[in-house]
Amino acid sequence: MKENTKENLKEYKKRYYQENKERLKEINKLNYHKNKDRYNQIGKKYYKEHKEELKIKNKKYREKNKDKIKIRQDNYRDKNRDKINQKRRMNKKKYSKKEKLWKKDNRDKINKSHKKYAKKHPEKIRAMNKARKNIILTKECKCEKCGSKKKLHRHHLNYKEPLNVVILCFKCHKELHRLLKVVTK
Ligand SMILES: [Zn+2]
Ligand SMILES: [Zn+2]
Repeated sequence: MKENTKENLKEYKKRYYQENKERLKEINKLNYHKNKDRYNQIGKKYYKEHKEELKIKNKKYREKNKDKIKIRQDNYRDKNRDKINQKRRMNKKKYSKKEKLWKKDNRDKINKSHKKYAKKHPEKIRAMNKARKNIILTKECKCEKCGSKKKLHRHHLNYKEPLNVVILCFKCHKELHRLLKVVTK
């Protein structure tokens, strides 16, 4: 018989967890749902009391696990697209007024961030400006994918060719970039 040492106990716990992983997860989930409010309260209190410390910890974790976090976020987004869109629509209504005010008060900040972006992606900005000037979107223009005439964008196949664009509605444009992101990953 094995001795009942700390190491053995640890080993035993680990094995027990591995063998009952799914069941334990289920129990945990149930337990959490039952006591959701209480847990939330405890969490909030803990956060308040350890705010600075947690911020630093969080930052370090994020820096260390950048790729992992991104994959997790992308997965979540893919799985919960409808939910996210619904939430976004609701928030949009709620915040559009606030946003307008905020933008008014923070014009300098916004300009600065635009400048920063332009500095980081000069080729992109140049191509976008050139396309905007030269490829005029008329009432006859349609999304080349779905035929919609609403909110048309000029999508660049390559920023080195500013005038080589595909006209897409914002929805198809967004979708395309999402797919491109998946492909290039
Ligand atoms: Zn479209
Ligand atoms: Zn595009």
